[in-house]
Amino acid sequence: MALLSTTDFPHEIVKTEGFAHKRIDLHSHTTYSDGTLSPQSLIDRASNFQIDVLAITDHDTVAGLDIAQKHIEDKKIPLKLIAGIEISTAWQGFEIHIVGLNIDKTNSDLQTLIVRQQQAREQRAISMGEKLAICGFPTIYHDAKELAGQGSITRAHFAKILHRDGHVSTMQQAFDKYIGKKGSKGQRAYVKPNWCSIEEAVKAIHQAGGSAVMAHPIRYDLSAKWLRRLIIHFSEVAGDGLEVVLPQMNPEQRAKMLAYCQEYNLLASMGSDFHYPNKWSDLGRNLTMPVGAKPVWAQWQ
Ligand code: AMP
Ligand code: MN
Ligand code: MN
Ligand code: MN
Repeated sequence: MALLSTTDFPHEIVKTEGFAHKRIDLHSHTTYSDGTLSPQSLIDRASNFQIDVLAITDHDTVAGLDIAQKHIEDKKIPLKLIAGIEISTAWQGFEIHIVGLNIDKTNSDLQTLIVRQQQAREQRAISMGEKLAICGFPTIYHDAKELAGQGSITRAHFAKILHRDGHVSTMQQAFDKYIGKKGSKGQRAYVKPNWCSIEEAVKAIHQAGGSAVMAHPIRYDLSAKWLRRLIIHFSEVAGDGLEVVLPQMNPEQRAKMLAYCQEYNLLASMGSDFHYPNKWSDLGRNLTMPVGAKPVWAQWQ
């Protein structure tokens, strides 16, 4: 299958899709959730990498967007910021992430959902703190809360503290040993979250005028049969598109995601899911939209 690089997007194609930009990354995080860069630093990094279009998609919050936009305007950075969010949802016992793109972040339905999701995050963090205290880490809730600051608290914050304090050798090990969900009950300090449904997330994103995209479909550890069920459900509740391009995906996986898009008439999105600078992936890197995909941004103009 022919692949188009975002660096050499032919102009005619961009024009026909109504989007006049070239380097596009529609999934990234800041310190307002579990990213390590402030909105300003993230924008500076995107600008250094000559990214034209960047979506900030923090977990269940839109709090970093205004600061990022103000920074773009103050510094006159030639970057189009797409207002986004990544909403955690529950489906059949799995945690599925739905990205909202090009949203009106002030929409009241979306705001209501955000408040509910933040309450679910706080409750889960408290319960996780209690379980981890029993595991021998009595101050971890306090420490994770402090690290999260004014941003959404996530399991990544707990994993970072466990790693920082030398209780695990990698963040992944924190998930494997304590807070991850492998098997039916999860690890010792796993707490079942109280997320909204996929349908509720899609509805709120649509109320806010945005496009609803299923984040990283390959990362849910689903068999082919279950992944297909998930995609069918997503399209039945009016989901708009799939992330068909992530830096870690191999060509077969991209082809498979594109085939799902075509089969279920879904649009295609792409993003790095950038959390922090590392040697495996970065903003805008390795993002290539397969020929034949209908990009999600075609909906926006
Ligand atoms: P939460 O939204 O509180 O469930 O936190 C999940 C976040 O932790 C994800 O968005 C990832 O950024 C991060 N993470 C890192 N490693 C893992 C893992 N093995 N399983 C789940 N989440 C992980
Ligand atoms: Mn994350
Ligand atoms: Mn995610
Ligand atoms: Mn993400």
